[in-house]
Amino acid sequence: MPHLKQPIGILGGTFDPVHFGHLRMALELYQALDLAEVRLVPCYQPVHRKMPVATPEQRLKMVTEAIAKESAFTVDPCEIERQGPSYTIDTLKTLHALLPNTPFCLIMGIDALLSFSSWHQWENILDLAHLVVAHRPQYQLPQTGIVADLLKERLRHNAIDLHNSLAGNILLHPVTPLEISSTDIRKQIASGRNPRFLLPDSVYNYIKEHGTYSISRI
Ligand code: ATP
Repeated sequence: MPHLKQPIGILGGTFDPVHFGHLRMALELYQALDLAEVRLVPCYQPVHRKMPVATPEQRLKMVTEAIAKESAFTVDPCEIERQGPSYTIDTLKTLHALLPNTPFCLIMGIDALLSFSSWHQWENILDLAHLVVAHRPQYQLPQTGIVADLLKERLRHNAIDLHNSLAGNILLHPVTPLEISSTDIRKQIASGRNPRFLLPDSVYNYIKEHGTYSISRI
């Protein structure tokens, strides 16, 4: 097997807007798992939910502002440039073509893991990436079903397993629970409340300047 590079974390999302729940989770996993970087990948068109409120360009700009001073993070516009439905499998194929021999760790909240078997070509995703699941205590792992079987087969307990193989393992890792959601931030802004300290100031300043989540748009 060719020598593998240091794994890269991939955090996809709508980021409508990006907030400290996303950023803190990404930083903790970057450090704990010794990742080369975490790439934040704002989607163009989410597959399982309604269209975001902010435009793709606005969400990309907010992520860019949010990570400007953190060298552990990069932002990848590939899904926005590709347009159409944002399938993770397509993003992983693009990344593998650009960065061969690099393990990719798909970072997700446990809520996302629970619906993983409904993702487009989920079996092929596991051929191209590991899953790193940020454990949030209020969610229980399933005991039966496809995700339960996947965990039985592929769950690993050591970050080294993400470095020694290209794809296919699942790692659960606790992160500091921050009950912040983009939906709640949008509601706060639309009702005239101040969401400061839930998201970076640079992102809040952008939102204020562009009126991104005014009442009429929520
Ligand atoms: P919304 O409220 O609009 O559903 P969101 O805050 O959940 O948005 P997304 O962009 O959909 O944000 O989330 C991207 C990823 O980040 C998902 O894998 C999700 O599980 C995870 N995530 C979202 N919020 C948090 C949080 N507070 N702590 C840890 N992970 C989070």
